[in-house]
Amino acid sequence: MQTVTILGATGSIGQSTLDVIARHPELYRVFAITGHRQVERLVQQAKACHARYLVVASDDDYEQASKLAREYELSSEVLSGKGALEEVASAPEVDSVMAAIVGAAGLEPTLAAVKAGKRVLLANKESLVMSGALFLDAARQSEAEILPIDSEHNAIFQCLPADFNYGELSASGISKILLTGSGGPFRERKLSTFADITPEQACAHPNWDMGRKISVDSATMMNKGLEFIEACWLFGLQPDDIQVVLHPQSTIHSMVQYVDGSVIAQMGNPDMRTPIAYGLGYPNRIDAGVAPLDFATLSELSFSTPDTHRFPNLYLAIEACRSGQAATTRLNAANEIAVQAFLDNRISFNQIAQINEEILNRFEPTAVSSIQQVLELDKQARLAAIAMVEES
Ligand code: NAD
Ligand code: MG
Repeated sequence: MQTVTILGATGSIGQSTLDVIARHPELYRVFAITGHRQVERLVQQAKACHARYLVVASDDDYEQASKLAREYELSSEVLSGKGALEEVASAPEVDSVMAAIVGAAGLEPTLAAVKAGKRVLLANKESLVMSGALFLDAARQSEAEILPIDSEHNAIFQCLPADFNYGELSASGISKILLTGSGGPFRERKLSTFADITPEQACAHPNWDMGRKISVDSATMMNKGLEFIEACWLFGLQPDDIQVVLHPQSTIHSMVQYVDGSVIAQMGNPDMRTPIAYGLGYPNRIDAGVAPLDFATLSELSFSTPDTHRFPNLYLAIEACRSGQAATTRLNAANEIAVQAFLDNRISFNQIAQINEEILNRFEPTAVSSIQQVLELDKQARLAAIAMVEES
């Protein structure tokens, strides 16, 4: 029996995690679930999964959560605030933590789980983008086990040799990591119409059903850029070890190419319950509720190279990756502000990349040695990006 905390339970990944857990009551017990703003959904989830703790991220929601908890006759204890998120991520009773808060808000609770030596199922890519080396140092010290949930990284993890040593590609006979991406909803849209893109169009991903922030990131391919950075940290890669491949069907979730010409790919239907079940069950395989891939109806698998003009954000992220930790932290922060401003109809789709580029170019690279410094860089870039949104 594994005891699990789910950070970001009310989101897309959080709901899929609860779905997989509900299929295996003999294997998993839910310790805590957390959410922000969607209080009633969180209370209903706590009722269904018998969580011991329900945590609302904001103290402002404590009253409402407590009231609803009484109405639903919950046995869960209600907690609130950032400190509580970190407590349920690091509590001694907990074996595994699903890190599925979106954005920089996930950094500190995820780090709390890492520092406590948990098995961390990492969906929150932004925490690694912001704090890569510090995050991994903390994991090494506490012997936390990081299992990638992002489908591409989960695929790469599955395609690497079992005895793969961090960063040692050539010793394992690996020549390239092939990071696949669908290209999102605008892969073929006329570039001259990009200024007219609406939030609804950007959030309508052809293959994956995800939260709004990552959906916009998929449409700009910033998501692939963040994943590029994430892959470097997770597997000890250099930027030149990775090739980004457009694959619109999202059937292959990424690949590892070996020096003898072999390419090992992980395939499946685009359903996040597969990598989530892999992380929960590791090293065993458990049922995820995902339909098997039907090769009789798969008509086509196609591949191409992403276009720089169409997807400037992808190339900004690769540039930031080469520049270092301060650049990736600032880019992530600017992007969060720009994406939210786009979702609020305050800036156009094209302005997301313009803001990101300006923030990336404005500041000098800085060595980063503490989380405090990461948070300061994040804040500095956010303020600068907010000013740009206001001026626009
Ligand atoms: P989502 O928007 O659907 O859910 C986000 C969760 O975070 C919610 O539970 C929300 O309440 C919580 N949250 C939001 N702001 C918060 C704050 N300030 N403090 C505490 N909690 C807060 O997002 P999602 O699509 O589930 O994505 C979650 C993470 O997983 C992201 O980092 C994303 O990049 C990553 N991811 C998602 C997918 C996917 O298919 N959805 C795939 C790969 C990786
Ligand atoms: Mg992904």
